Amino acid sequence: MNKDLILFNGNIYTMNFSKPKVEALLIRKGKIIALGTNEEIKSNLNMNYEFIDLKGKVVLPGFIDSHVHFLNYAKSLIGINLNNIESKEAVIDKVKTRVSKSKPEVWILGYGWNENDWRVKTLPSKSDLDKVCDKNPVVLFRKDGHSIWVNSIALKKSGINEQTLDPAGGKIVREPDGKKPIGILKENAIYLVLKKIKTEDVKDTVMTPVLTSLSDDSKKTKIKKLGNINDAIKLASKNFNKVGITSIHNMENMDRQKILFDLNSKGELNLRVYSFFEKIEPEDLNDFIKNIDLDKKWIKIGGIKLFYDGSLGSRTAWMVEPYDDNKDNHGMKVMKEAEVERLIISANQLGLNFAIHAIGDRANKEVLDIYEKILRKIKIKQLRNRVEHVQILREEDFIRFKKLNLIASMQPYHLASDMKMAEKGWGKRCRWSYAWNRLVKNGVHLTFGSDCPVETVNPIRDLYVSITRRGEDGYPNGGWYPEHRLTLEQAIYSYTYEGAYASADEDIKGSIEIGKLADLIVLSDDIFKISPKDILDVKVIHTILDGNIVYSS
Ligand SMILES: [Zn+2]
Repeated sequence: MNKDLILFNGNIYTMNFSKPKVEALLIRKGKIIALGTNEEIKSNLNMNYEFIDLKGKVVLPGFIDSHVHFLNYAKSLIGINLNNIESKEAVIDKVKTRVSKSKPEVWILGYGWNENDWRVKTLPSKSDLDKVCDKNPVVLFRKDGHSIWVNSIALKKSGINEQTLDPAGGKIVREPDGKKPIGILKENAIYLVLKKIKTEDVKDTVMTPVLTSLSDDSKKTKIKKLGNINDAIKLASKNFNKVGITSIHNMENMDRQKILFDLNSKGELNLRVYSFFEKIEPEDLNDFIKNIDLDKKWIKIGGIKLFYDGSLGSRTAWMVEPYDDNKDNHGMKVMKEAEVERLIISANQLGLNFAIHAIGDRANKEVLDIYEKILRKIKIKQLRNRVEHVQILREEDFIRFKKLNLIASMQPYHLASDMKMAEKGWGKRCRWSYAWNRLVKNGVHLTFGSDCPVETVNPIRDLYVSITRRGEDGYPNGGWYPEHRLTLEQAIYSYTYEGAYASADEDIKGSIEIGKLADLIVLSDDIFKISPKDILDVKVIHTILDGNIVYSS
């Protein structure tokens, strides 16, 4: 661990504009201590060293994902994700894989299947699952959460057989003869199974995402999801390292953040964490910070996160003009201005930053208004206050971001997911939506992230969207409002240096410079030389964190 690590023969893009590209670098005790040509670096070597011959490969600073909900993501890994699968056979395959990694008897959960996505659009049955699983009970939630698909063992363990009557408000789907359950349970019949799920292997109680779509009554029902949350977090952090992420900005409540702090101080989370707390008073957060001894190398407290409005998808993003497809609807804001003002002032005076979720143009305008007003009242020095998402602005508000020194924290993949929906709801106003380049041109600090698990975590894919403004399928030709495209260098900068700037860590990470932390990635192909479409196939082949290789393909 104390050995030097030398990377040579590479195309090392530093994201430091005074020395943009070097051939080799030297890492000692977790830091970059030399940069230069192969010869220059080799002359610096200790006796004891390890090396990576890059063979011309590209090295970048480790990605910093500036907006994630990490525990939420980890929890989603406990069940099998069956969303958007094209056939029943492919679903069964996923179950088979999970079964092979699970101990017998353990309940296997999954969610998100939808027979309408399949080539053959008929309801599945228990016999499909029995073929791949005869030792574990299996429970798979349909996408809408209103049905489950189970195997014979799950039925048996739940005491469901030919004699079992349908519960009130529920249905046990049966064979045409009207007796034998086929393994599909609807509505209240779901609980016949859920209540039998053994709790002894369960270390965490989780609301299944699909359950939140159930009726109001059952919304409160928590199921004990199987699996250990700590294992899920470790798997989640591995998945992040695999796509080149070395730091995250996590947006979650105190209980969840504490789990991460705990694992991080045990050295079990290969990520640096910068935390924003939801649902907490600034004074309480301040007290928490005073009374906890955090490992500063791995954990940093950012401040408070607030929601100002809703989302585009649910037509609750707060807009100046009504939605094109619903002239009575302007969306909604979820907080009062005075309350936001109080919280920002209180947080900032305690030295805590704030991050405020604002999607609609009116939400962004009002947040800028509030902040402008605050700046007239108090002096804010050196804080890194930010707005999350910034999906659509009025033209005059771009420059205000710069004037007020607010960071725009955006998620490129939202464009790919949302553009068709945005056209329906925002029409011509889309001209000023996801307008990354316009912000950069105005000198605004633009930091990038995934919003995982809302979107899949993968910065490379975000880079592709940032420079093409197209979906992965290539739609639309020429890009969606292509004037807001970034150059590849700008997009990488927003995923590295700007992430470090946002957490006021630009002196220690975010670019490859002497004295900075050795958080680096090596890519499979030279992304600066291939076509934008091919960027989607680029893989991370090494992730180096604190000078240690934490992932290799
Ligand atoms: Zn989010």
